[in-house]
Amino acid sequence: NDYLGLAGDPRVVAAAVRATEVYGAGAQASALVSGRTPIHAELEAKLAQFEGTEAALLFPSGFAANVGVIGSLVGDGDVVLCDRLNHASLIDGCRLSGARFRVYGHCDFDQLAGELDKAREARRRLIVTDSLFSMDGDIAPLRELAELADRTQSMLLVDEAHATGVYGEHGTGLCDEISQLSGLVRIGTLSKAIGSQGGFLAGSQDLVEWVRNTARTQMFSTALTPAACGAALESLRIIGADTTRRDHVRGLARFLRSQLHDLNWNTL
Ligand SMILES: *Cc1c(COP(=O)(O)O)cnc(C)c1O
Repeated sequence: NDYLGLAGDPRVVAAAVRATEVYGAGAQASALVSGRTPIHAELEAKLAQFEGTEAALLFPSGFAANVGVIGSLVGDGDVVLCDRLNHASLIDGCRLSGARFRVYGHCDFDQLAGELDKAREARRRLIVTDSLFSMDGDIAPLRELAELADRTQSMLLVDEAHATGVYGEHGTGLCDEISQLSGLVRIGTLSKAIGSQGGFLAGSQDLVEWVRNTARTQMFSTALTPAACGAALESLRIIGADTTRRDHVRGLARFLRSQLHDLNWNTL
């Protein structure tokens, strides 16, 4: 999943080494205890700036971010609605949350609207979706989802694992077009195009502080290694300064699709 070829980039590797020399090989504790070193804080600030949100929060992995954030937002008395083709970590997050769990057909928004309506007595409703689906490689119509979330006063969680660094004018993913939605919860990973390791949440200050103090995968798991933070900071700098890598990978994808079309394959 190293879409931009950054995992082995000498500048990224050197940044990981520098961070290890300054902060040590391990973070030594969960972020909430003492594992959040200055380089963790710097990366959270950088991610918030990158995503255009008030704040961001690191997790040990993208999987941990999804399980932790969903469990922090909904529980008993709530309803969570999940696309059938969502990533396993989203599905497990929904299951573990204790909320009533409803699966809708892939991007079937009529069915989703029906489920939202049936759940109107619920305390809270949360819609959960990948932005770029990992299995079929198609893209969720985020504007329609945002409208539905807004109209029904539901929260919308979007997992950008495959889109971060690859899509968007500034490489921030596909959520730019719906960034004005107040109930938007953005999740990303540092382990794909960013070429490092770790997951993150981006959103309002209130959302981030709530999740920081309630997500079990945040509180009961050791913070990211300093090396992962150093590498991610350098990758984000490169992604911000250089559009050629994301243009190249999307060009390769277009080429593959066009060749498959010529062989009469359906590429959605
Ligand atoms: C890979 C992936 C994750 C998990 O991210 P990790 O950082 O590898 O744990 C979560 N969601 C989606 C959609 C993914 O593709």
